[in-house]
Amino acid sequence: MRLLLAMMKHETNTFSPIPADLQRFRDWGLYEGEAVAQAYAGTNHPLGAYLDLAREVGAEVVTPVAAEAMPSGPVEKQAYDNITGRILDALEGGGFDGALLDLHGAMVAEGEPDGEGGLLARMRAIAPGLPIAVTCDLHCNLSERMVANSTAMIGYKTYPHIDMYEAGTQVGRVLLRALAGEIEPVMAWGEVPLLAQTLCMGTADSPMGPIQAMAREVEQDAVLAATLFGGFPLADIPEARVSSVVVADGDRAAAEAARDRLLEAAWAAREDFVYRGEPLEAAITRAKEIEAGPVILLDHADNVGSGGTEDCMTVIAAVLDRGLRDGAVAAVWDPGAVTEMTEAGVGAEVTLDLGGKTEMPAIGETGRPLRLTGRVRALTDGRWTVRGPMYTGSEVSTGPTAVFETGGVKIVVVSKHHEPWDLGIFTSVGIAPQRCHYLLLKSRIHYRAGFAPLAKATIICDGTGVTTSDNDLLSFERLRRPIFPLDWYESAEVV
Ligand SMILES: [Zn+2]
Repeated sequence: MRLLLAMMKHETNTFSPIPADLQRFRDWGLYEGEAVAQAYAGTNHPLGAYLDLAREVGAEVVTPVAAEAMPSGPVEKQAYDNITGRILDALEGGGFDGALLDLHGAMVAEGEPDGEGGLLARMRAIAPGLPIAVTCDLHCNLSERMVANSTAMIGYKTYPHIDMYEAGTQVGRVLLRALAGEIEPVMAWGEVPLLAQTLCMGTADSPMGPIQAMAREVEQDAVLAATLFGGFPLADIPEARVSSVVVADGDRAAAEAARDRLLEAAWAAREDFVYRGEPLEAAITRAKEIEAGPVILLDHADNVGSGGTEDCMTVIAAVLDRGLRDGAVAAVWDPGAVTEMTEAGVGAEVTLDLGGKTEMPAIGETGRPLRLTGRVRALTDGRWTVRGPMYTGSEVSTGPTAVFETGGVKIVVVSKHHEPWDLGIFTSVGIAPQRCHYLLLKSRIHYRAGFAPLAKATIICDGTGVTTSDNDLLSFERLRRPIFPLDWYESAEVV
């Protein structure tokens, strides 16, 4: 048996000013040929599961590419063509029994708003009958083209995404059983006009937790894999919404019934997928009153894991202004500041214009640095390995990294964007997060993977940034309408 294994992952925030060029994929991970297995074997990724399954059945594997970049603005055409081209070129060689793909499902490329659908359609154009199994992120914006050009699809059921390996194993086994003639996968898919906030999709919470439990529950008898995608709402594309895809063994009616159950549950809970915030000042006041730490201060509007610039200083400024001491921040992206601190050296006092280097035209914001005086506490190369439950085993590089201390707060300053979901972002630079009273994290839900076990409280702080949870700050032009809550509330106001 000969299998094609590949990864192509990017969550595209069409409001983000950060380009996704090939270098951005190299920064997180762009591997070819045998380097793919070296990078992903034994990791908690679908690709890690695919490699294990292939070994288990003694299959020959071809791994043309594994590419993932931190979320950001649209993928540049050259990068998209390069990555998809490697997969398509391998396929042109022929002789494959099946393909196992590790995708995201919310990739928007220049000239191709449905990145994954475009890849799958071109794969099927080369190899019309090729069985293809696909994993997608829980934040997939599913398209008809993706479903039409694959054999079996599954999404993660956890957020933070700690079941990537399980999802890969589950859908990979479906494909292998189909290749062995044991089963005949059929798929049903559908969607509801619901633009759900990612901040309301944590699977430790309701409604997403119970809905994902339902997805597991319906996976019995003929139903081989059931998925409810929360979607990715920071994408101005027609497909951004909640959707479902279910794989069954020959029984289309069973697949459709499971799909309907999941979509009805999501629609019934639609009000709970709308985020309602509080003024930043009020959030900081609440945080100041909490005696037991660590208290997480969640700067979710500047979450690089959803395409944030990671250099908006609004929440950090409020924390320093209000004198919340004994804190640590992960992280501020500012390579220039790191260079200045490197030149000054550990222990030196420096005055910096920190952060605020990126313009955000899509939300009408300009970058506003914060002028601060403090001390350089650490300088590192930014390299460490994830030990927590999400992306376990992955090598991280935040580039040259510094710790800047001011007003009793230690700010980790990085040269490459990185969402703090693992304690390593602090421990690698000598900060013990469990001993800090405040941990200001530029994250949304993924921080829970590493930080939930030590957090005594979490305060959601509405700052500035292109990953805002407030739809009113975004202008949607391509999104298919009507959609809840944008149009429901607007029409309610008219009445
Ligand atoms: Zn996701």
